[in-house]
Amino acid sequence: MKAVCVYCGSAKGVDPIFQQATQDLARHLVDAGIDLVYGGGCVGLMGVLADAVMRLGGQATGVIPQALMDREVGHPGLTKLHIVKDMHARKAMMAELSDGFIALPGGMGTLEELFEVLTWAQIGLHDKPVGLLNVAGFYDGLLDFLNHQTTQGFIRPEHRELLAHDSQAAGLLARLRAHHGKHAGKLLDKQTARDLLL
Ligand code: AMP
Repeated sequence: MKAVCVYCGSAKGVDPIFQQATQDLARHLVDAGIDLVYGGGCVGLMGVLADAVMRLGGQATGVIPQALMDREVGHPGLTKLHIVKDMHARKAMMAELSDGFIALPGGMGTLEELFEVLTWAQIGLHDKPVGLLNVAGFYDGLLDFLNHQTTQGFIRPEHRELLAHDSQAAGLLARLRAHHGKHAGKLLDKQTARDLLL
């Protein structure tokens, strides 16, 4: 994996462990030579993540809609900052630039971005790995609910497996690497994928 997209909160959360885990993920990405792609802001865990990657000598690319430049404070010190038209363009570009996806703790925006990219994998738009960094059990409730949806017949077991999870950055990156390419063959052809995304 050359670049990983990280979705995370525009807040820092109450427990300092979320910031520590964010900095730890940054260190693992930089040590592995993996570039960061993210939402481009300075606020919350997004800012903590980008600051840590840049401080450690890594590469960070942000993608932010013009209308959010003020609210999320576009980060001035990134390797690259793409300013795009809207949220859809943001998500499409973040996905295009990345070889895998990780969600750190966050709020509704983080979930929206995570589930969009996961459902894109489900319908065969891409075969890039997707993982949850389950910091201190933050996502236990969500994982339980996904398992409930699976046992109740609303998520196919092979689709449930599209979401990897681990409590540690090193473990999660290892899972993403192991998963890479596993779903090739079920992919939509490029034209159908383009028609669906535009
Ligand atoms: P949150 O997890 O709610 O703090 O949001 C994290 C990030 O998700 C922020 O950069 C938001 O701008 C972004 N976000 C929120 N809603 C959406 C959406 N519908 N599409 C794309 N990004 C979003």
